[in-house]
Amino acid sequence: MSLDQTWVTEAIDATGTAFALKGKKLHEEQTPYQKIEIFETETFGYLMTIDGCTMVSTRDNFLYHEMMSHPALNSHPNPETVVIVGGGDCGTLREVLKHSEVKSATQVEIDERVTRLSEQYFPELCDKNGDPRATLFFGDGIQWMKDAAPGSIDVIIIDSTDPVGPAEGLFGKKFYLDCIKALKPNGMLVQQSESPLLHLELIKEMHAAMKEAGFVETTLLHFPQVIYPSGWWSGSIALKQKGSLVSRLDQADALDTQFYNRETHSAAFALPSFVKKALASI
Ligand code: SAM
Repeated sequence: MSLDQTWVTEAIDATGTAFALKGKKLHEEQTPYQKIEIFETETFGYLMTIDGCTMVSTRDNFLYHEMMSHPALNSHPNPETVVIVGGGDCGTLREVLKHSEVKSATQVEIDERVTRLSEQYFPELCDKNGDPRATLFFGDGIQWMKDAAPGSIDVIIIDSTDPVGPAEGLFGKKFYLDCIKALKPNGMLVQQSESPLLHLELIKEMHAAMKEAGFVETTLLHFPQVIYPSGWWSGSIALKQKGSLVSRLDQADALDTQFYNRETHSAAFALPSFVKKALASI
């Protein structure tokens, strides 16, 4: 991420793509884990980047946070115990807590500074942090999952940075094995899995690793996300038990959301042909 006069630009060599917003830098710090920057943009409100990658903006974060939580929670028969790995901006936690059936939601974020800066610049995402069902734990999600009580979690949401640096180990068989152990028999995992257009090979590798670890079924959901590469993002779902994906859409329209409803729920699971083809052989 570079500040070029009044343009905040994320240029990615690996994909040959760039995204820019007009704005100015307000804050920059190097934590033990990563470099966090905060910008004030002209049209997208505040923007947080980590190691130069766009993470969250005031204007469009609802797309990602709603679609990383509601489709999965409404596809599980009774999501009482939810664990979010990463997600330090607290936006996913906020959406999870909108479900009355959730009895406990634990956010496991490695970098406390992400949460503290979000409290300052994205207070609307943190306004449910005091909910008695919420726990904010600061530590490595890989170690946390290793130590988790077996068979204790209904839904694991992996809301992490890209598979480099501290998040690298969240994208492999070893971590998935620990997730399977920690999930209840009908448990489900959903993980942010980058762009269907730009990162299809990564998505295939993730689904293959999930299956190798013992998840019996995987599927993909997709949704728009303006500030991420290609503007199109995905979540990968993995099931511990065959056929356990349900559609509890009766309450989908009752949630207080901006993008998610019963139609966008179904649309998110409707896969484009090239994605279907890529995942068919896994
Ligand atoms: N929505 C974003 C995206 O898809 O690019 C992710 C946003 S969220 C801020 C990602 C968080 O994952 C970061 O705050 C980062 O510190 C956290 N993270 C990365 N590796 C982690 C790990 N091993 N354990 C827990 N949190 C981790």
